[in-house]
Amino acid sequence: MLKFLLVFCACVYTVTAGKHDAYRSYSVHNVQVRDMSDLQLLQDLQLNLGVDIWEHGMGGVRDAVVMVSPEQARSFLEALDENGIAHSLHIADVAKSLEEHENDLASYRSSRQNRMIFNDYPRYAEVDAYMERIAATYPNLVTLVNAGPSFEGRDIKYLKISTTNFTDASKPIYFMDAMMHAREWVTTPVALYSIHRLLENRRPEDQDLLDDIDWIILPIVNPDGYEFSQTDNRLWRKTRSVNLNVSTECIGVDANRNFDIEFNTTGVFTNPCSNLFPGPYAFSEVETQYVRDILLEYLPRIQLYNDIHSHGNYVLFCYANKTLPPNAAHIHHIGAAMGAIMDSMKLPQARFYLVGNSGLVLYPTSGSADDYAQVRLRI
Ligand SMILES: [Zn+2]
Repeated sequence: MLKFLLVFCACVYTVTAGKHDAYRSYSVHNVQVRDMSDLQLLQDLQLNLGVDIWEHGMGGVRDAVVMVSPEQARSFLEALDENGIAHSLHIADVAKSLEEHENDLASYRSSRQNRMIFNDYPRYAEVDAYMERIAATYPNLVTLVNAGPSFEGRDIKYLKISTTNFTDASKPIYFMDAMMHAREWVTTPVALYSIHRLLENRRPEDQDLLDDIDWIILPIVNPDGYEFSQTDNRLWRKTRSVNLNVSTECIGVDANRNFDIEFNTTGVFTNPCSNLFPGPYAFSEVETQYVRDILLEYLPRIQLYNDIHSHGNYVLFCYANKTLPPNAAHIHHIGAAMGAIMDSMKLPQARFYLVGNSGLVLYPTSGSADDYAQVRLRI
């Protein structure tokens, strides 16, 4: 799993009055976690108070970033102070910050009319049109596949890119997907940029990436959640599935907890209103079923599965329960090379990429896409 953070020059359309009011007076705090017990305290506060951890941090290495409601703020800060954990205010009013961000994005868009699709946060329809255009422009290299409809009926499409129409069984397949978590907007442009560099703007030195590898690129795994995050709730994370047998109050499932690997055991909350609700059963979500079906269809040939998330500069690999697969040294070696390349191109103010096991570097969890792929691929 690769986690990218890209920073765009500036930034989205005119703010609709009150659009972000749900986050009025919500605040975000940097928390100087020192060790595993501090991280555990944050996990407990997430469970007991319902605070939203934006970035988990790493003891003594990098701060955690946590959003709290006005009602949660006092208890949260008192718990930190009681445990001697240093903290500082990162965002005083999340709604105001989101409004400023939208205004910045609107002015960026008006100043750069001819921007490329990956230099923005394109809506589902724009991404769909781009993939249709790419498929029509490169018919000898590209096949556009419709995996099927999302819960709300949006077609979930992916591109197969190959010089041999996927018929050469000796070629490895690289499978890249993005936007499993709705609010992680920066991930889809990463997938689109990859398409662009493979097809529209390929460097001579990258020709082998096209000749020797077959690609599957799925830019939006969770289109319902993504569109909802664009129109209604910027910080929506889950799918938008409705299951009245599960809850009449809250909808959606954390797609990256919904895979059939140690399902519903670690790093999840059984409350359907939680952002970390894994679903009533593994693969309850049609969106995760499509990812599963791609993995299973191409199982013997998939050499790399790259599930792109944000935010935080990490290159993470399995397993999320802190154990390592047999090829961990090999993966770590590749991850370190990836991290080093990205470090060389990152903005000066961005953090260096941390490379390691997801359970150890980030936090233990279960039901994740990368763990499922690793087990299924039996590497
Ligand atoms: Zn994510």
